[in-house]
Amino acid sequence: MNSMTTELSPPFAWIADELKRLEAVQLRRTQRLRESPHSGGLVQLDGRQLLDFGSNDYLGLAADSNLIDAVRHAVGEYGWGSGASPLVSGYGVLHRRLERELAAHEQVEASALLPTGFAANVAAITALAGPGDLILSDELNHASIIDGCRLARASVGIFRHGEVSHAAELLAGYKARSEPRRILIVTDGLFSMDGDFAPLPQLVDFAASAGAMLLVDEAHATGVWGAEGRGSCEQLQIDLRNVVRVGTLSKALGSLGGFIAGPQLVIDWIRNAARPYIFSTAQPEAIAAASLAALRMVQREPHRREELREKAAWVRAELQSQGWDLCGSESQIIPLRIGSSGEALRIAAELAEAGLFVPAIRPPAVPEGSARLRLSLSWLHSGEQLQRLVDTLGRLASRRPRA
Ligand SMILES: *Cc1c(COP(=O)(O)O)cnc(C)c1O
Repeated sequence: MNSMTTELSPPFAWIADELKRLEAVQLRRTQRLRESPHSGGLVQLDGRQLLDFGSNDYLGLAADSNLIDAVRHAVGEYGWGSGASPLVSGYGVLHRRLERELAAHEQVEASALLPTGFAANVAAITALAGPGDLILSDELNHASIIDGCRLARASVGIFRHGEVSHAAELLAGYKARSEPRRILIVTDGLFSMDGDFAPLPQLVDFAASAGAMLLVDEAHATGVWGAEGRGSCEQLQIDLRNVVRVGTLSKALGSLGGFIAGPQLVIDWIRNAARPYIFSTAQPEAIAAASLAALRMVQREPHRREELREKAAWVRAELQSQGWDLCGSESQIIPLRIGSSGEALRIAAELAEAGLFVPAIRPPAVPEGSARLRLSLSWLHSGEQLQRLVDTLGRLASRRPRA
């Protein structure tokens, strides 16, 4: 702990106790410092150069010269700050261009740009559901979906991960008591902590039979999955007229921002009803310039996502054969289930000793007792780097009791 820490004044003193409590159960977070860009599959963290398995820079665009040049040019042309929320005077030429190109890329009529993916989820959910409505939400959905559900002030039914039949049961139970005004089903397309896909075809059928809206969060799938990089809906061949999608520009696209993609009238409604859209400053246009450059690379360089998917399949097969529990991962997100937070931290420290950055993920990011190591692969990882990962984990696995 920091020796400069001063004692808190009495009304705030409870915070010191809470932090001690987190510390005691190994759930207190400490802030790491990154001292290099994400490049070459490496990252400098707290003074150490490590192989980087802890970023969402899936396509290796975060430090790409195309994005950097686009930002430099845009700052010269458009300045930096946008000065206001989009509906007042913050919405600029590059925001419009990005929204239109995103809509074209996603094969929908329109899209709305938000400062972050987190804001996009809160915006979409609170605009689509309110008091008197029922939201059905997968238990492993991202925190921003959970918070969107809370802020919507609708009734919320949490269904077991990927179990459409449970969602149907919850709906029937609710209807036995009262008729919901409207129903919204919301799910991650590719789950951020387990790396598996939602059963989207079944969810689409269920939504149709229930007369429900379906919202899919593509945060980890945009740019990576589907032949054109549209995400999990494209990968699983969902008719895009049946869903509204949220995406982020801050993972595979290496930039910052979130978007909602769907029919024109839905997007018009978002601009009228979503408080994170209406009451938050538009991002600098130079950030939109980076996203535009990244989107073009997603379109022009499909080999990045194809090779990443091949690398991920190879790593999953190797780790599976070493006896690790991969939580059902089907993607470039590869969790290794450990169980206790202390053990996950210990193994993460051991991996760092061996030169590998693999974050330990603990509650509340994952359910109690399911702490894990979470590997995120990037197109930037070389065959040699991945071999080193597999070899290092193989040595650890041989010393661990088999699950
Ligand atoms: C990261 C993430 C978000 C939030 O996106 P940001 O652009 O980082 O705010 C939303 N949903 C899921 C599933 C995510 O993993």
